[in-house]
Amino acid sequence: MPRYDIVTIEGDGIGPEVAQAAIRVLREAVGENVLHFIDAPGGAAHYARSGDVLPDETLRLCRESHAILHGAAGLPEITYPDGTEVGNELHLQLRFKLDLYANVRPIKLLAGVGSPLAARETIDIDYVIIRENTEGLYASRGAGVVLRNEFATDTLVVSRKGVERVARFAFNLSRKRDGAPRDGKRRVTVCDKANILRSYAFFRAVCQEVAGDYPDVEIDYAYADAITVHMLKKPDFYDVIVAENMFGDIISDLGAATVGGLGIAPSGEVGDTHGLFQGAHGSAPDIAGQNAASPLAMILSGALMLDWLADKHADEALAGAADRIRQAVATSLSEGHAIPRDLGGSASCTEVTDAVCRALG
Ligand code: ATP
Ligand code: MG
Repeated sequence: MPRYDIVTIEGDGIGPEVAQAAIRVLREAVGENVLHFIDAPGGAAHYARSGDVLPDETLRLCRESHAILHGAAGLPEITYPDGTEVGNELHLQLRFKLDLYANVRPIKLLAGVGSPLAARETIDIDYVIIRENTEGLYASRGAGVVLRNEFATDTLVVSRKGVERVARFAFNLSRKRDGAPRDGKRRVTVCDKANILRSYAFFRAVCQEVAGDYPDVEIDYAYADAITVHMLKKPDFYDVIVAENMFGDIISDLGAATVGGLGIAPSGEVGDTHGLFQGAHGSAPDIAGQNAASPLAMILSGALMLDWLADKHADEALAGAADRIRQAVATSLSEGHAIPRDLGGSASCTEVTDAVCRALG
């Protein structure tokens, strides 16, 4: 039986609580001795103790493992000597060092979860946002300039290589994913502001070129402002959305809000070699240590990790386990006994995890 090394960086705030919950569920779903979890330090609290936000040994383990499971990183009170917050620096460094260029954010409404769009007659939300993760406007991070305290600029970087690879990722995903929009078409929607900035027009043009290799998948375009309206009014139109880094960041929080919020939205960041999986939320220091966080985002991120590993290693058993985890989450939510607090219930992190494990049977 294949064995996979999974590095877990529990991190800060609610990170350890939700990471442990996900590990429990993954073990239960996959069976003993298939996943080998290796605990590795990193994050803001670790920086405060050691002066190192991402230890060399942790990076080495990440490079050598099959996948990375990350709780969350960042604590507002922990700063560098110059006063800037350490924040989720750990995660940002891993993103660049491991070239995790596609951030995968499934947006799916599960039975038993209320959506702010519920007034609609039928509501079917099941699409995936692919956020370009290594360039765009955020590529300027730390490199922007402030001139004489009067002007400030940052640079939006769009490269052919960067767009091609993330666009291919989006088209390939559209071909193979289970969900499909209401009209049954395979579709990739390019989210940009091609009408305003040349960099975005280039992003769009490169996506259009890539689309030529996927005649079976429809290409569609939406400006970033307009798509926020469409995501609320016709979410069932979408299949896969590919977006520049900053736009992807913004619309994935919006998408998460339409399906129950950050506490249930999974996220994966993958490149050609490595993959890192964590909930869409941050370290939520306001509720840390109270057993109050929802572990569902992290548990569903664990399922996403299994999907990715299953695909990469042609391992159908893992794909089956991922489906069982999603089904168990849906079952426990629709039974209504263990609803986490952010979804209007009163169950603790442990109670929600127990219920998912029970539903796994
Ligand atoms: P980051 O900058 O890392 O994205 P953030 O500032 O966006 O973090 P989060 O840490 O995601 O903030 O928290 C935002 C709000 O959502 C907080 O009030 C937090 O308590 C809540 N929240 C986040 N994750 C969860 C969760 N898993 N369960 C319940 N509530 C959560
Ligand atoms: Mg945030």
